[in-house]
Parts: sequence; C-alpha cells; structure tokens
Amino acid sequence: MTKSADVVIVGGGILGLATAYELARRKFGKIVILEKELFLGAGATSKCAGGIRAQFTTRVNIEMSMLSEKILANFEDEVGYHALFDQVGYMFLLSDENELAEFSKAVELQRSLGLPVQLIEPSEINKIAPEVRTDDIIKATFCKNDGLADPSDLIQGYATGARRLAVEISVETEVTGIKTSGGKIAGVMTNNGEIATPLVVNAAGPQAKLIGDMVGIKIPVEPIRRQIVTTGALDFIPATFPMVVDVKAGLYFHKESPGLLLGWADKSVQPSFDISVDPEYTDTILMKALERVPRLETAEVSKAWAGLYETTPDHHAIIGYAEEIDGLFLVTGFSGHGLMHAPAAGIVTAEILTGKNPSIDISPLLPRRFAKGSVHEETNVI
Ligand SMILES: Cc1cc2nc3c(=O)[nH]c(=O)nc-3n(C[C@H](O)[C@H](O)[C@H](O)COP(=O)(O)OP(=O)(O)OC[C@H]3O[C@@H](n4cnc5c(N)ncnc54)[C@H](O)[C@@H]3O)c2cc1C
Repeated sequence: MTKSADVVIVGGGILGLATAYELARRKFGKIVILEKELFLGAGATSKCAGGIRAQFTTRVNIEMSMLSEKILANFEDEVGYHALFDQVGYMFLLSDENELAEFSKAVELQRSLGLPVQLIEPSEINKIAPEVRTDDIIKATFCKNDGLADPSDLIQGYATGARRLAVEISVETEVTGIKTSGGKIAGVMTNNGEIATPLVVNAAGPQAKLIGDMVGIKIPVEPIRRQIVTTGALDFIPATFPMVVDVKAGLYFHKESPGLLLGWADKSVQPSFDISVDPEYTDTILMKALERVPRLETAEVSKAWAGLYETTPDHHAIIGYAEEIDGLFLVTGFSGHGLMHAPAAGIVTAEILTGKNPSIDISPLLPRRFAKGSVHEETNVI
C-alpha cells in the first residue's frame, strides 16, 4: 500500500467512489480510497432500493437530485461506463388534505426549479401503475424524470472510471485511526499500515460518526435499520411500472424484475448497527403492501434483507469541511438518499476541494449548521 497521498477517502461506497472519480477528473493529485470490506459498495449502497427522485421539499435536495438525474441520464458519456437509469417515474399517493397541501407546496417549488412534476387525479393512477388500490386516494404526484438505477452498475461505473484515472483503491483496508498534528490532519492508520496525507474525506456512510470519534469530533449521523422484501414473478407488473410511494403508510414499491421490490420505513427503529432481518418487520411490509396492491395475495417472497440509513437530524446530507480540524471533509449523512445524490455530491465535493464555487448552493448542507441551529428539515423522507 502507498505511503502517502494528497487525499485519502474513507469508504468505497457510492459516495467515496463518485467523489474520487470527480476529483481525479479534475487532476487532484494522488487519490486513495480505503474500503474495509472485501467488495466495493458492500455497505449501505448494496442494500439500496435504487430509487432516484427529485421530488423533495427543500431547494437544495431538489437541485442535488436534478443534477444527479442529468448525470445518470448521460452516465456513459460522463463516466465512460454503461449504467441503466430507467426513467419510469416516481408517484406519491396522497390520501388526505394535509398531505395534499404539503405536496402541493413542494410541487410548486419543484416546478419553479424546472422539474416536470404533475399532480394527477386518482383516475389516472392505474394508467401508470396498474393494480394499485386508489379508492382512498385523493390525488397523486408524478414526475417522469425520476426512476430507478442499479446500485451495482453505479459502483462499477465509478470504480472503473476512477481506476482509469489512476485512483488507488484498497479493499480489506480498515481505517483504524487518524493522525493529527497541530490541529491538522496528518495521516491515517490502517490494518495494512499508515498513509501520510493532509486531507481525509469521510465517506464512511453509516459509520461516519465513528470516523469523527477518531479525531474527537461529533458527526450527527445515526445508523438506522431499514428492510426490503422482493417478490417472485408477477404477471401484472408491466416494464413501465414506476416507483410508487404510499405516503400515509410509509410504504414504497417498484418493479424488480420479474416482480416487485417492497420497502417500508419503520419510524420506531432506534439507531444501531444491526442489519439482521427482523421477521416482524418483513411481515409488516407485506401486510401494508397487500392493502395497497391486493393482487399481491398470491405473490411469493423471493428475498428479504436489511441495511442502514445514515441519518442526520434534519434528513439532509452533510457536505463540507469539519470546522474543528483542518483537513477533514465530510460527505455523508444522506438519510436514505445517498444513491440518488451521489453524482451531484461527487461533483460539488470535488469543486470545493479544488477551490471552486460549487455548482449548487450547498450552504444548507454545511456541517456547521448543527452548531448554529440553522437546520431546515427535509420532510419528504421514506
Ligand atoms: C434498505 C435501503 C434502501 C435504500 N434505498 C435508497 C434509494 O432507493 N435511493 C437512494 O438514493 N438511497 C437509498 N438508500 C440509501 C443509500 O443506500 C445510501 O444513502 C448510500 O448508499 C450511502 O452511500 P455511502 O457511500 O455514504 O455509504 P456506504 O455504501 O455504506 O459506504 C461506506 C463504506 O465505508 C466503509 N467503511 C466504513 N468505515 C470504514 C473504515 N473505518 N475504514 C474503511 N472503510 C470503512 C464501509 O464498509 C462502506 O462500504 C437506501 C438504503 C437502505 C439501507
């Protein structure tokens, strides 16, 4: 392993890889990614549902997604690797006036930023998403630019692009400590030796807080377990079936060939690193899904897995230099939206690290917002 680098990126998930690629594109110098597991993307990224949407409630999240969607739609030109971005759209089902008022406000903001999102009538829902029960739905939002991406395609794409640009990637290499000198980052310690560096990028996802602990700073990112279930083949799900979110139930589902992928956000889950599959959690997902898609009665469960969201108190990512120490940069805390925001996050991070103004005003994402109390919550979180 190399003995020194201009930057060490901790974490070979989608954020670490997108950041490395964008830095290498800008000829940053010697870039090293350290990943503790055997495979890249083995953390939250491999557990991800692949949803990509720009229907958020805050300007910064909408802009991050719109930039990402632009990159994903041209991924081969941008990164030199073919990765499918299936723009089947995202639909949010609204079942009461409060939800409608909140989503109408968000739609107004999204449209003002150029997103082609629509409010549609219940009678239009089944034309886009057949077999979804609509008798208790008063409206839905639909955006055709949103859709689905394959997390492993994006991992391979960014990793291939980064390696092509001479980024050094070491797997099975765990950062066990960070060296500082005079309030500045001096290097990292790993199970494979030390690397001297003036800059560490913390892209450790649900473990980001532990990297902060190594230098005595608090990073407010909590690991929260989320579960997913997939079904066997279903002949009533067309290839154009979108991502559907039942807002009231906290349930989401999208086509996952040859069936459906189902997920639900259990808001009572407490922070922990537990990623075992809880059978009760699985049953609740299936029950909620049956209520929304009665034809699932005959469906078989194909797979179930659990992974960790890397959640911040305001459900926005943290992007920027840590204030407490020179040379530590954070790109983490995406709160369940890290795949969809990674292309944009890689770009803005690389812009900041190369001394440029970021293409998006990411001031609401800076780490110092928590100390200043200037948090602005993203409420459309699944
Ligand atoms: C069930 C589920 C569904 C999801 N669905 C979606 C979705 O539809 N759309 C979406 O955009 N997002 C979704 N997400 C969120 C998304 O998966 C994450 O936001 C994203 O993958 C975070 O990427 P990351 O690179 O920050 O973290 P990770 O992928 O976890 O990568 C961090 C890496 O750092 C490594 N690491 C940690 N500590 C160390 C260390 N000390 N030394 C070396 N390496 C270390 C880890 O092994 C890991 O590989 C979902 C998440 C889950 C769990």
